[in-house]
Amino acid sequence: MKPLRIGVLAVQGNFREHAQMLRRLAVDVVEVRKPEQFEGLDGLVIPGGESTTFMRLMRLYGLDTALAEFAAPVFGTCAGMIVLDRNHLGLVDVSVRRNAFGRQVASFETDLDVTGIDSPVRAVFIRAPWVEEVGPGVEVLAEVDGRPVLAREGRFLVAAFHPELTDDTRLHEQFLDLVREEQGVRA
Ligand code: GLN
Repeated sequence: MKPLRIGVLAVQGNFREHAQMLRRLAVDVVEVRKPEQFEGLDGLVIPGGESTTFMRLMRLYGLDTALAEFAAPVFGTCAGMIVLDRNHLGLVDVSVRRNAFGRQVASFETDLDVTGIDSPVRAVFIRAPWVEEVGPGVEVLAEVDGRPVLAREGRFLVAAFHPELTDDTRLHEQFLDLVREEQGVRA
């Protein structure tokens, strides 16, 4: 079987860690910096970093338009979740609050119960957002203190934390399952 070809948006932030994790899962990884690199991708990861910087650089390089036209699954983590919400690129029907856990307890780790994964997932939160409002098509997959931190809407998966910073590959595997599922639907 041909390996999946997954892009990692590489304008800023934790793209190397995502790329490394995807390579461990035998994926063909493309570091995406230009719109033409969306061609032929089976999915895309938008990493954590700084959402204001992402927005600025994506607009500058035309990556915002390329992403709006991209039809395959997208996994946005932390800042990558923020840029997908109603108030930014408007691709996922959620509204996200930035730095929601407060600046003092800015960063923490916790064990998350995730729908579809049978034992807790260790999650690293760094100046993390949470999901404030979800539209009717959004499925919440994990919460912290009643706040959604992992959600899916169709081909979009969004996480408030950093799955690329632990050894646990299960969320990336879940995303790859989503990619294969979507390919089945489109084939
Ligand atoms: N606080 C950052 C923002 O608002 C997100 C933090 C992260 O991606 N780790 O963009």
